[in-house]
Amino acid sequence: KSEVFTFGETMVLFQPEQMLPLEYIHQFPKKIGGAESNVAIGLTRLGHSVTWFSKLGNDPFGRFVLKSIRGEGVDVSSCLLTDEAPTGLLFKEQLSPEDMNVYYYRKGSAASLMQPVELDAGAIAAARILHISGITPALSDSALATVMEAIEIAKRNGTMIVFDPNLRLKLWSAEQAKKTFNEIAANADVILPGLDEGQLMTGETDVEAVAKALAGDSDKIIVIKLGDKGAYLYSNNLKVYVEGFSVDRIVDPVGAGDGFAAGVISGLLSEEPMEQTVRRANAIGAMVVGVSGDIEGLPTFEAVERFMKPAGANRD
Ligand code: ATP
Repeated sequence: KSEVFTFGETMVLFQPEQMLPLEYIHQFPKKIGGAESNVAIGLTRLGHSVTWFSKLGNDPFGRFVLKSIRGEGVDVSSCLLTDEAPTGLLFKEQLSPEDMNVYYYRKGSAASLMQPVELDAGAIAAARILHISGITPALSDSALATVMEAIEIAKRNGTMIVFDPNLRLKLWSAEQAKKTFNEIAANADVILPGLDEGQLMTGETDVEAVAKALAGDSDKIIVIKLGDKGAYLYSNNLKVYVEGFSVDRIVDPVGAGDGFAAGVISGLLSEEPMEQTVRRANAIGAMVVGVSGDIEGLPTFEAVERFMKPAGANRD
């Protein structure tokens, strides 16, 4: 059984190599795109065992997604292929290094048909951490029910719940997202929002006030992502800004949050001090934005350790 269980939708991602409006793009390298599988792959690179669950179309794209994720060493054995609906697709459009648009072709996709009974309850019970992303509950009512069922199973079995809100306003309204995020957050042990997501969830503005409101009276750990500034860690015994790493050139800003989540989950599994965990998560986020694609820049444990050393520290 795997240390971590995660689930969600992974689409075929068509990511042009040129910075042009999509109308003028004629060739599309075919990749995969999905926040939860990014986290799963990030974790396998760091040396952990992960199960990823989804429902895919029984079509060439579904098989491509499954093979790609399996090829990264993630356990996909409980995934389902269905004839009922196709695999979702996603096109990226990059107009400048920091201006990226996405176009979804995922409504009614196979993943949106996932049902609570399709979850591998035994795998969630056996895992140490359940990773929940706020994208999955936005896919459909049955996907929302599947998220709530996964949380129930984790609660019953003492599996720690890590929640990354991953707000996607193309999928639902801010009001709907806020309500569901807060329901999930109430059950989570660790919450990893961006500042905008934390502000939406709490109605607070300041980083520290957002974290305090999210934690309430509980002993939840809150880590607020702050882009190039790093992150703010709020726990019972430690409230501290953890500085980010500088990036020479931002190539692709998407996927940093997923790499960050993989870093936090890895540190939780290793039971290392939280500040060190967030530092490594910052390093992974910084490494990801320097590489095109969501998974290409996800480092191995050794690579992130090297990256975190001050310049020159490797030389004899
Ligand atoms: P995503 O775009 O993947 O949804 P996000 O909005 O969830 O990301 P960000 O705050 O953009 O989260 O990035 C996550 C983490 O990655 C940050 O907390 C930081 O540690 C690192 N990071 C992101 N951008 C940069 C950057 N430009 N320079 C250095 N580190 C960065």
